[in-house]
Amino acid sequence: MEAKQIKEFAAKLGAQGCGIADLARFINAPEGFKPQDIFSACQSVVVFIKQMPTAAILAENPVPYTHTAYKMYEEIDRIAMELCRFFESNKINAVLVPADVPYLAWDQDKMHGKGILSLKHAAVQAGLGIMGRSTLFINKTLGNMVYIGAVLIDAAVEPDPLAEDFKCPENCRRCLDACPQQAMDGITVNQKLCREKSFFQAGRGWDLYNCNQCRKVCLYRVGKKSG
Ligand code: SF4
Ligand code: SF4
Repeated sequence: MEAKQIKEFAAKLGAQGCGIADLARFINAPEGFKPQDIFSACQSVVVFIKQMPTAAILAENPVPYTHTAYKMYEEIDRIAMELCRFFESNKINAVLVPADVPYLAWDQDKMHGKGILSLKHAAVQAGLGIMGRSTLFINKTLGNMVYIGAVLIDAAVEPDPLAEDFKCPENCRRCLDACPQQAMDGITVNQKLCREKSFFQAGRGWDLYNCNQCRKVCLYRVGKKSG
């Protein structure tokens, strides 16, 4: 199947960007977290993105941002499900990677979780953008408020070139400086420190986001030079 056909169908489903990565791009992924560890027949990873309605991050009340984020996960999973059906109707087996939970890997002490495939890395490997100093994924046009989905297929499709035409400015430390937990070192995020601040339980035990400063202050929040 041609990459163009896949991208056109993904766009029809509402994806705002779609790219393809081959397995060679995942050679440095941790053992157990490579596409072929999930689906041994996998030959290509189809990755797509969609932007959250961005003003949600400007609300002082945490409910709109939290609810919008959870709905984004549902939207991404819906697109991934339809993509799987599309591939199956073309005699290609397709396996969905969840947009969020469930995980298999969870370290309670460190409050550290790992999705079955890192969607941020997959999006980079599919040429859709870069990983910022905050470790958030950034698409040049849409910024960092994008959600990512992926489908693993047992067909070889031409991969996309990596996005190498933009990066974090050398001297930018906005995200690192804005973090109330000093959870970032420019390479990784200490998930325990982050989760202690970025989630809280309200009302009847509802989980709400309580911090998104690293996303909010980024130069690329809603696209290139948006800060
Ligand atoms: S969400 Fe908040 S606490 Fe977590 S890394 Fe970003 S700024 Fe720090
Ligand atoms: S705030 Fe600056 S350093 Fe951090 S991710 Fe955005 S552009 Fe990169």
